[in-house]
Amino acid sequence: MALIVQKYGGTSVGNVERIKRVAQNIASFKEAGHDVIVTVSAPGDTTDELIEVAMQLNENPSHREMDMLLSTGEQISIALLAMALEAIDVPVISLTGAQLGIITDSEHMKARIKEIKQERINREIADNKVIIVAGFQGMTDKREITTLGRGGSDTTAVAIAAAIKADLCEIYTDVDGVYTADPRIVDHTSKLNQITYDEMLELASLGAKVLHPRSVELAKINQVKLCVRSSFDTSKEGTFVVDQNQIEKEFVVTGVASDLNVAKIGIFEVPDQPGIANQIFTALADAKINVDMIVQSAMRNNINDIAFTIPKDDLNKALAIVNDLKTSIGFSEVVYADDIAKVSVVGAGMVSATGVAAKIFSTLADAKINLEMISTSEIKVSCIIKNHDDNIKKAMQRLHDAFELDKLN
Ligand code: ASP
Ligand code: MG
Repeated sequence: MALIVQKYGGTSVGNVERIKRVAQNIASFKEAGHDVIVTVSAPGDTTDELIEVAMQLNENPSHREMDMLLSTGEQISIALLAMALEAIDVPVISLTGAQLGIITDSEHMKARIKEIKQERINREIADNKVIIVAGFQGMTDKREITTLGRGGSDTTAVAIAAAIKADLCEIYTDVDGVYTADPRIVDHTSKLNQITYDEMLELASLGAKVLHPRSVELAKINQVKLCVRSSFDTSKEGTFVVDQNQIEKEFVVTGVASDLNVAKIGIFEVPDQPGIANQIFTALADAKINVDMIVQSAMRNNINDIAFTIPKDDLNKALAIVNDLKTSIGFSEVVYADDIAKVSVVGAGMVSATGVAAKIFSTLADAKINLEMISTSEIKVSCIIKNHDDNIKKAMQRLHDAFELDKLN
């Protein structure tokens, strides 16, 4: 008998048939003698639709009212799923985040979970009930409803699993696991049986929308045993996200990912003095703009060129900030590009392998793809390339082929 947390995504509860199927799956775990806590997302595109209606009434609504609105989507799912379980005689109770005792900070629309109270969980489990809790939401200690940021139901699941020390946290979704690349872009991808928390974190923040990045972070910190699997075909095993030392077969490269939400800003002829980079990047940080890659060219005559990347949505804001610093810092020109993308190769085995970067560069050179910026970490190499024609698809396919990811496992 185990204590299991399951999360079902919006597509998995998108219609009556699917809700019934999810209920059957939960019932089978209960029948096997497990205690199950389930968290769900809003059905289908409900969250997007709610945002659309909100925008028609007010383009700039307060975040408090957005949370009041968006938290309703998940409330639909929990009630319907609980009813489906009642119909097949599984003892069940649905609870909102607040009712369960998910306490967050007060950053509306991107709140962080501070604490999960366990009294209610323990009581319902002792009563032999399946608990269905609304994902993506919580409550501040002043009783305000909050949400955790788009895709936040994954984080609800992992946070609960961490709090109650669950044996397993299963993320049920519309794909049957984590792949070596997005199968919609790349041919001959392989499903991974295992992936490390760090690799998953890189892929999640690279826009591989399998898991909410914060959920992976939490899983890593709390060593939650995490599994991504299909809600449509529950006979498939899925992908386990585990610690480095639990990996059975280590690969140098496990994935190739791309991110289109990137823009680049270049600042020319910046005086080479202490504190200049500090001024620029502090101003951007104060505006909560997340700077990713930074390149400073070799100094000549005491001037530098600095280039960096940011999320595309923040481009206008960032340009305004940088232009504001022009006279005080005394640089000559600001340029930008938003027709770019970041292509990354990820693998925990890179730490101890040689020649990975060289292979990436030669592969892209053979494909006649120009590298505008490069950055590396212990387990990742990222390149900025032009988002022209089929450049991204080509880069990803060539890299996937070069590292023979079709033959992984
Ligand atoms: N319903 C929310 C969203 O669409 C949360 C989630 O799906 O995890 O972002
Ligand atoms: Mg969703």
